[in-house]
Amino acid sequence: MAFPAEFLDELKKRNGIVDVINSYVHLQRAGSLYKACCPFHNEKTPSFIVYERTESFYCFGCGAGGDVVSFVMKADNVDYVSAVEILAKRSGLTMPVDSGYNREAADKRKRTLEANREAAKFFHSQLTSGKYKEAADYIDKRGLRGAVNHFGLGYCPPGKKLFTYLTEMGYKPKELQDAFLCTRYNYDIFENRIIFPVIDTSGNVIGFSARSLEKKPADGRKYINTNDTAAFNKRRNLYALNFAKNSKEDFFILCEGQTDVISLHMAGFTNAIASLGTAFSEEQAALMRRYKSKVVICFDGDAPGRAKTETVIKILSAADMETKVISLPEDLDPDEFLKKYGKERFSLILKNSIGQMDYRCGEILSSFDLTQSDQKITASKKLSDVIAALYSPVEREVYTIKYAKQLDITAESFKSVVEQKHTQLLNRNKRERDRQILRNTEGYGDTVNRDKIRNTRAAYAEEALLGIAQINPDFLIKAKNEDRLCGDDFKTTFNRRVYDAMYECAEREGKFDISLISDRFTTEETGRIMRMFINRSELHDNSYEVFCENAKTLKNEAAPKPAGESVTFDELRDLINNKKK
Ligand SMILES: [Zn+2]
Repeated sequence: MAFPAEFLDELKKRNGIVDVINSYVHLQRAGSLYKACCPFHNEKTPSFIVYERTESFYCFGCGAGGDVVSFVMKADNVDYVSAVEILAKRSGLTMPVDSGYNREAADKRKRTLEANREAAKFFHSQLTSGKYKEAADYIDKRGLRGAVNHFGLGYCPPGKKLFTYLTEMGYKPKELQDAFLCTRYNYDIFENRIIFPVIDTSGNVIGFSARSLEKKPADGRKYINTNDTAAFNKRRNLYALNFAKNSKEDFFILCEGQTDVISLHMAGFTNAIASLGTAFSEEQAALMRRYKSKVVICFDGDAPGRAKTETVIKILSAADMETKVISLPEDLDPDEFLKKYGKERFSLILKNSIGQMDYRCGEILSSFDLTQSDQKITASKKLSDVIAALYSPVEREVYTIKYAKQLDITAESFKSVVEQKHTQLLNRNKRERDRQILRNTEGYGDTVNRDKIRNTRAAYAEEALLGIAQINPDFLIKAKNEDRLCGDDFKTTFNRRVYDAMYECAEREGKFDISLISDRFTTEETGRIMRMFINRSELHDNSYEVFCENAKTLKNEAAPKPAGESVTFDELRDLINNKKK
């Protein structure tokens, strides 16, 4: 057991699951439950349910589920101990001193964050020391002087200076390598570069982005960003989010680079953020969605910038962000634009930003010569694809009429094409969903319980047993004492693990609660355990007799065949019969 049960009880009391989840996704009350569109998979109708009474959640779409700790584990992509720490901090609860848990990962993260903070201070002091003229010149030339303190900018001098400084403070070379501060040969990774610290929303220095001062850096890299470390995951962080999340505007401005962000902040647009030298990720979109529901994309006006815009729009729309786009004239980036035209002009462009639909349709229209009939046909095909993907009929209607006019074709004929495509799209989605459901019920592609496909009958009996045991944990003890069920009866490895955890819990605590075992399972796994419970809760006979019947079925089942063997005819028949039920 990771933490004392009393501590976990207190933690859950102080962090009501509805309250916590509501700070990530907007929950709607539905009777005694709460519903939302799932934050872990893309959907338009809510299948994510929060049960306030049992302090748990379950998604009927993707199968994620568990308690408030499992939720934070998945939402913030952290391990069990860190999730508990986040919740303890949120509610002003002190962590137990000796929990007996393996704290290695949490300690490593802490140590990396400390090293980063010291490094950031060191870099900053070097830049402001006046000793390095080239670095100071760069800051002035780029108009960054006013940002040096606010953004904690720094400079990493050549000659292993950071390595010496930090090892004298007691950091070991290995720690500095793992923190992506020094190389294997103890050189400073960011030598002769201007440093932009990356700070997370809790104020930790989690990593660095470093720009070379040389026109042609020896390693060819203008920017070096911290690789993934114990404290940093570039897919899950955004530059300047620590400031932008507090801006009073209700939207973000998403740019390509940190100098764009800094220029925008200095000009008063404190809602600007950037992704960190990487392709924009779904995780970053989800992170943004936690703070604001609108975004204006402002990438470079050149061809690669436009291609990137198209990809990012798709990711942001999937995360349910209301997305607009601005294109700056003359292929300028935001930093160059502000220097050339000033902030009033930028404000004006921001006001005139266009919706993502108009942006995408405009991009299509401008890439064809509409006076040529064959090009006009291709353009209308591409436009109908984009419009047909819209979920709302009203939106489809608006864009159909608007772009029929621009294509100079009748709205009626364009509408019939769009609606036909829309129906095809819906059918395709439905077929895919049906296939998925069939696969799940039969255990095909089951990544949680991989043995299920090789022994479906046993797996069903096991799931029934474990579902009933969640309602009546004392059955586990009773059946064991009466020699009716023990761990060795289980045929699938995953269900055996669940049994062992539940038995221990029932024996030790005299009760069962998903939180008491969630330290031993992933969110997908706790989701599966929840589903066994939900399935049984819907049936009214969960008596000890039913429990024992299933235990008997299990005892009569042979052990599963080793992986790789083909399914026999009998098993195939079972599969089909089970499906009919
Ligand atoms: Zn889901």
